[in-house]
Amino acid sequence: MIDNPSHPLTMLVCLAHPDDETFGMGGTLALYTRRGVQVHLVCGTRGEVGEMSPDLLQGFNSIGERRESELRCAAGILGLTGVYFLGYRDSGMPGTADNQHPNALAAQPVDKVAASVVHYIRQLQPQVVVTHDPIGGYKHPDHIAMHRVTRRAFELAADPIFITDLAAFQPKKLYYQTMPKALLRWAVRIAPLLGMDAHHFGHNKDIDLATIVTEGDFPTHAYINCRSVIAIRDEATACHTSQLGGAIGRKGPMALFRRFFGSTETFMRAFPPPEKGLHERDLFEGVE
Ligand SMILES: [Zn+2]
Repeated sequence: MIDNPSHPLTMLVCLAHPDDETFGMGGTLALYTRRGVQVHLVCGTRGEVGEMSPDLLQGFNSIGERRESELRCAAGILGLTGVYFLGYRDSGMPGTADNQHPNALAAQPVDKVAASVVHYIRQLQPQVVVTHDPIGGYKHPDHIAMHRVTRRAFELAADPIFITDLAAFQPKKLYYQTMPKALLRWAVRIAPLLGMDAHHFGHNKDIDLATIVTEGDFPTHAYINCRSVIAIRDEATACHTSQLGGAIGRKGPMALFRRFFGSTETFMRAFPPPEKGLHERDLFEGVE
């Protein structure tokens, strides 16, 4: 199907929560939609765990509903073609009771969730698939779950033995979004100077940056220069009001880092296996 010239360039992004599409890779998504690529998003949960002030919940029945509307706002600005929810529940940060909820994304068998993602891969036939890195950026259990699920779905979608109502399909490339390492190291160094603890970082003090720097030392194979779409990404960021505490960039390491080193978003290539010294500037390199 990829050889069919009428099949548009398509990217499928598989992430855990509303805001992951914008905070971590909104520049990349905006860039590709502006180039005419059809970008679809599969979102594992509605990010329903956490606290939200009552004024933000006005007009909504739940946190999940509010966050879905924020995602749809951002998706419109980024220019996404489709947004699909898998319908699992936010698993919360490690060690919280939300981990044990029967519908928590991180508590599901990988193959079960992967089967749903296979459906989207076979139906949409993306040349490029993107997900979280193996430690989910900052070790959020849902990010790690979506990483495992997407990796598995990428294999299963191409396997003719795995029978669904759609034909097997092999996307050309698989990428994991990575945290910019220089930025992480810098944050660990600067945190104490700002009176912050690098082991208990972020809005909820539940992000261990110091450990992430060590464990998340993944290679970077693709550098996407997003300078031309920074304003679009900022506009999409503003949609996620509930995650920003009313001011852009107050929550999460990505938001903070981005303000300083935000014009390049980085990815590690998982498939095809990267050759030594791989340095791409376009996720569709070699596809067209
Ligand atoms: Zn997330």
